[in-house]
Amino acid sequence: KGILDKIKFKNGKFIKEERIVNAVNNISFSIDKGKVFSLVGESGCGKSTTARTIIKLIDPKGGNIRFDGKDITNLTGNEMLKYRKKMQMIFQDPYASLNPRQRVLDILTEPMLFHQVVSSKSEAMEKAFEILKKVGIRSEQATRYPHQFSGGQRQRIGIARALAVEPEFIIADEPVSALDVSIQAQILNLMMDLKEEYNFSYLFIAHDLSVVKHISDDLGVMYLGKIVEKGSKKHIFNNPLHPYTKALFSAVPKLSGTNLKNSKNVQGEIPSAINLPSGCYFHERCPYAKPICSKEMPIEKEVEKGHCVLCHQY
Ligand code: SF4
Ligand code: MG
Repeated sequence: KGILDKIKFKNGKFIKEERIVNAVNNISFSIDKGKVFSLVGESGCGKSTTARTIIKLIDPKGGNIRFDGKDITNLTGNEMLKYRKKMQMIFQDPYASLNPRQRVLDILTEPMLFHQVVSSKSEAMEKAFEILKKVGIRSEQATRYPHQFSGGQRQRIGIARALAVEPEFIIADEPVSALDVSIQAQILNLMMDLKEEYNFSYLFIAHDLSVVKHISDDLGVMYLGKIVEKGSKKHIFNNPLHPYTKALFSAVPKLSGTNLKNSKNVQGEIPSAINLPSGCYFHERCPYAKPICSKEMPIEKEVEKGHCVLCHQY
């Protein structure tokens, strides 16, 4: 559950309104070491909330988060710092996540020194140049500021910053959604090359199945704060079971996001996360809905090994 802050105009005044939303509700998944797990779904389905909860930018109201077998849900201070170093995040909008007043070199050396992955400023600089080279930024560009780079280059810098502290796990929240298609491919290739080299694990967030097809080992499909289907890439792409997953496949990808309105496998609009439907959250839009669907939330079933679905049909 999360608090959603909204600015509302009421009685001639702007006021801040807080509403409680069920952003993510009773989900469970695991990511194997060195693998890519992708979370896919329309915007507002809770993908980013899930990511932010894992690195504890949001406090979960229940459940737990384990890293390397250790429960990190309630860690604080220095103990949590150790894990924050191991888990890094790459954001959708690199511009918003890079300090505009910092030179690229400082953007990289600061976290290295903070997390003590280097013992001196000169060692940090040396390492920063090495990483920049790996992500395709030339050393003479290292003294420039973020606004002097293109969107794709800024995302390279965002990736370099994540690499700077030698993470084991990277959360990439729609890292290519804001980029031109030609640049998207370059960034995805770079991310995969780096994974090969460093063997870290990814949680990759996307609204479009086609983006994650070639990079994922496993996937979870999210709808209104629930994982409605999860499994290996083969399960999801060769044998999609949940009506929502099928709808995502038949949707026409648009620059602004997956547009389910063009899909024949789904009807209506995504319901509000504040007034969740009864029963299966998808029932109002599902072409296969039966009477039970509006009454009871289905329970997760493992249909084949590692392939789970949340739907009364199974
Ligand atoms: Fe459709 Fe019912 Fe399955 Fe929900 S439980 S996805 S409404 S068939
Ligand atoms: Mg998001």
